[in-house]
Amino acid sequence: MHPEPSRASDIFVWDSQFETGIRELDSQHRHLVDIINSLGRILSSETESFENALLAVFDELSDYVVFHFSYEEGLMAPFSSAHESAHRQSHAEFVQQLAEARAAAQISPFETTGKMLAFLSKWLMLHIVGTDRRLAKKILAVEAGASTEEAERMADDSMKNTGEILLHAMTRLYDNLAARTSELMETKRRLRREIDAHRLTEFELRKLSSAVEHSPVSIIITDERGCFEYVNPKFTELTGYGFHELDGKTPRILKSGETPDIAYEKLWKAISSGREWYGEFHNRKKNGELYWDHASISPIFDSSGKITHYVAIQENITERKQAEEQVQQQKQFSDDIINGLPGIFYLLDERGHFVRVNPQFSEVTGYSGSEILGMTALDFFDGEDRNRVAAWIAEVFEKGESWVEADLVVKNGRKIPYYFTGHRTGFSSRSDLVGLGTDISERRKLEQELVRQARTDMLTSLPNRRHFLELAGLELARANRYGNLLSVLMIDLDKFKSINDEYGHHTGDKVLVKFAEICRQTMRGMDITGRIGGEEFAVLLPETDEKHALDAAERLRLRVSEERMESAGGKPFHFTASIGVATLSPASCDIDILLSAADRALYEAKRSGRNRVVSFRPQSA
Ligand code: GH3
Ligand code: MG
Ligand code: MG
Repeated sequence: MHPEPSRASDIFVWDSQFETGIRELDSQHRHLVDIINSLGRILSSETESFENALLAVFDELSDYVVFHFSYEEGLMAPFSSAHESAHRQSHAEFVQQLAEARAAAQISPFETTGKMLAFLSKWLMLHIVGTDRRLAKKILAVEAGASTEEAERMADDSMKNTGEILLHAMTRLYDNLAARTSELMETKRRLRREIDAHRLTEFELRKLSSAVEHSPVSIIITDERGCFEYVNPKFTELTGYGFHELDGKTPRILKSGETPDIAYEKLWKAISSGREWYGEFHNRKKNGELYWDHASISPIFDSSGKITHYVAIQENITERKQAEEQVQQQKQFSDDIINGLPGIFYLLDERGHFVRVNPQFSEVTGYSGSEILGMTALDFFDGEDRNRVAAWIAEVFEKGESWVEADLVVKNGRKIPYYFTGHRTGFSSRSDLVGLGTDISERRKLEQELVRQARTDMLTSLPNRRHFLELAGLELARANRYGNLLSVLMIDLDKFKSINDEYGHHTGDKVLVKFAEICRQTMRGMDITGRIGGEEFAVLLPETDEKHALDAAERLRLRVSEERMESAGGKPFHFTASIGVATLSPASCDIDILLSAADRALYEAKRSGRNRVVSFRPQSA
C-alpha cells in the first residue's frame, strides 16, 4: 500500500517501510502521524487561540493512543513473551508521558509542545519500526499456520534489518527537518522585514498625526457626505468650534453668505468627481467674525476607488487679504496722484528704459503707452539735448537727484521745451529714476520776450543802444577776423526839438517811428540799425567801404527829406537828418573809436548846415 502524499508542512513523513502488513494497524499508525503533524502545524500557526487548539490536539492524541494501544494489546493477546510485556509497559509509559506533557503544555505551551514533538517523532518511529513491526510479523506467521515458537523466530529474523530501516527513516526525517528549518529561517527573515516595515509605517503615522495635531493650518476630515469626522486644534482655535459641537454638522456652518453659491457648487462638483479643489472662502467664525481662508480639498478613496472621506486644509489668509487690500488702496492712491499730476510722469531704469509713464506722457508725445515702454528716454531728444539728457540720467543715479531742460521731440516731430526733474528711487536691490516733466513753452516765450524787450526800443522796435553796441562789437570782431571792411552811419534828426514844439510830442514820436521804417526799407538786410538816443540812430554796414557807405547814407538822407508827414492837426511837414559816416581803418579797430569817428563826422554835418552826409576825415578831427 502507498502512503498518502505528505503535506509540505509535515514534520514526520510516512515511510513505506513503516508498514507492518496489517492494514488496520498501519491505518491507526498513519492517523497518529497525522495527529503529530497537526501538533507541529499548530505550533507554527499564528492563530490567536493557539493554546486551545494545542490542548485539543493533545486530547485527541490521548484518546486515540488509548484506542490504538488497546487494539494492539488485543492483537498481542495470543502471545506471552517478554516482548509483549515490554510492549505493554511502553504503552503505559507513553500514556503517562502524554498526560504530563498535556499538563505542562498549559503552563509553557511552546516549550512543552516542541519537546513533545521530538519525543513523539522518536517514539513513534522506534515503536512502529521496532515493536509493532515485530508483533505484526508474529501474527501474520501464526495466521499463515506457523507455531508460536516458529512465529517468534521468524519475527526475530525479520527484525535484523531494523537498524537499516530506522537509519533510512531518520535520514528522511532529518532531510525533512533541514528543509523545514531553512523554510522557517526564510519565514523568519521575511517576518523581520515585515515587522521593520510595520514599525516604520507606525512611526510615519505617529509623525503624521503629530504634524496634523500641531499644524499651523486648519485640517478637517469629513465623511463622504461632508460631515465632520475630525478637526485639528488649529481649526478650533481659528473658528471657535470645538469638535464636540460638530457632530453631524458639515463645514457649511462656516458659511458667511459672502461667498457666492456657485463657488460651492463648483467645489462639490470637483471633489465628488474625485478631483482636488483649491479656492478662497470668506467664512464666519462662531463669534460671528468674518475671516478669509484658502482651502485645498481632496477626496480620499478606498481600495475599490470609492470616495470615503474628504480632507480639507484651510489656511487663514485674512491678514494677507487685508494687506493686499491695503496695497491695492495704496496703489490706487499713487495711481490717482500720478495720473493727476500736472505734467508727464516717468519711471526709468538705469539704462534709461521706461518702466512706467502716466497717460499724460502719451497725450503729449502721441506715442501709445506700450510704444513708450519699448523706448528709452534718449529716443525723445536729438542733437545736443540728447547728450545733456544722458548726462542728467547719469547724474541722478550718481547723486540722487538732478534736473534738466531740454526739448522733447514728439511723434509728429514737433519740439516742446520741458523741464525734467529726476530722483533716484529704489526698491530692494534695484534703483530707478522717477520724475516729472513740465512744459515750459510759456516760460520760454516769456523769457524770450523779456530778452527781446530788454534789447529793443519800444517805440521804433529797433535794437536799443545796449543791444546795438553788442551787435556792433560782434560785427567789428568779425570784420577784424576776416579783414572785411565795416562802415557805420551816425544819424541825428535835425531840429527835432522844434517838431515836438510845433506839432506836439506825439507827432514827434510818429517821426521817430517813420524814420525807423525808412531805415528798414532803405538799408540792406545785413545792415543793423539801432536807436542810440532820443532822436539819434546808428547803422552798421558790414563789408562796406567808405564810398558805398556814403552812397547808402545819401540815399537814406534823401529818402527822409522826401517823406511827407502830417501833424495831428493835419498840417503837412517834412523832416531831415544829418549823417556822419566812418569806415573801419587800422586806427579804428575799437567800436568806441569807430562810433566816435562817425559822431565827429555827424557833428561836422550839423555844423555845416544839417540835412547832409559827412564822411569822417582824420584831419576833420
Ligand atoms: P539839432 O538839429 O541840433 O539836433 O537840434 P535838435 O532840436 O534836434 O536837438 P536837441 O538835442 O536840442 O533836441 C532833441 C530833442 O529831441 C529833445 C527831446 O525832447 C526830443 N526827444 C528826445 N527823445 C524823444 C522822443 O522819444 N520823442 C519825442 N517826441 N521827442 C524826443
Ligand atoms: Mg540829438
Ligand atoms: Mg537832433
